[in-house]
Amino acid sequence: MELLVVGSIGLDYVETPFGKVENALGGAASYIALSASYFSKSVGVVAVIGDDFPKEHLKMLEDHNVDIDNIEVVIGGKTFRWGGRYHYDLNVRDTLYTDLNVFENFNPVIPEHYKKNSFVILGNILPSLQLKVLDQLEENNFVVCDTMNLWIETTLDDLKKVIKRTNVLIINDSEARLLSKEANLIKAARIIREMGPEYLIIKKGEHGALLFNNGSIFSAPAYPLESIFDPTGAGDTFLGGFTGYLHKTNDTSFENMKRAVIYGSAMASFCVEQFSTKGLENLDKLQIYDRFMEFKELSRFEDE
Ligand code: AMP
Repeated sequence: MELLVVGSIGLDYVETPFGKVENALGGAASYIALSASYFSKSVGVVAVIGDDFPKEHLKMLEDHNVDIDNIEVVIGGKTFRWGGRYHYDLNVRDTLYTDLNVFENFNPVIPEHYKKNSFVILGNILPSLQLKVLDQLEENNFVVCDTMNLWIETTLDDLKKVIKRTNVLIINDSEARLLSKEANLIKAARIIREMGPEYLIIKKGEHGALLFNNGSIFSAPAYPLESIFDPTGAGDTFLGGFTGYLHKTNDTSFENMKRAVIYGSAMASFCVEQFSTKGLENLDKLQIYDRFMEFKELSRFEDE
């Protein structure tokens, strides 16, 4: 089985109460691929950048066994750029700008060897582009998909077509409420699962995540971090760690998915400890396993 990520790669400006970074590596696909690379031997990426994109970022991805051959470089084009400012409450973020640049004409072309028997991660991009990817896929794929409020509000019809063809939908609590038009998350989950996805994960930011399947629910705790510097990309990192673990184990049962949720949460906890992708660049497998075990300990108790 192969693992493929389709999404944005960009250069971010991020300001938090603790500092700021400019021209930092960003984009959902960057976080997803880096996070998944700690589980999968090779992670393919389909994305687009301009020729202004710093070579060292590509090298860093390559050093993590990310297959960068299908990242299209548009000569004379400018890379996607995004700027965000976080408030003192890091759950509140203002988008300062979104310059699509070469991303505006992104036409994802899936290479032959990823069309079958693959885990495919659809990063948060326009649902019509996600559909273009799905239309190119052939048999025996496992599709994990992300989306955002903007697409729920503006292109719901396309999004519903994507969701119908998705194995796991991963969204946050506000997106779940918006998509289902239901405030209660348990009822919202039932409504969303009826739209098609076999599994649904609802992320609750610093309060953990819920995994839903036929009448079963798994509740993952949040890691009690004292120092969060930059929450950018935490959701994408979760997505990468979660799917990377499923790919590595080649097991999509509910029991294994519980472990995948914890690995995704562990990776996200490393991501937010530093700016941009820095928290994901120098990890080792033991550190990740140790944090996985800390998560386990967090919700373990004896029945007297
Ligand atoms: P998150 O914190 O999960 O919202 O992910 C933030 C990342 O998504 C940043 O690195 C941005 O570069 C990227 N991003 C922001 N807006 C968009 C967009 N409209 N399309 C694609 N990627 C985006």
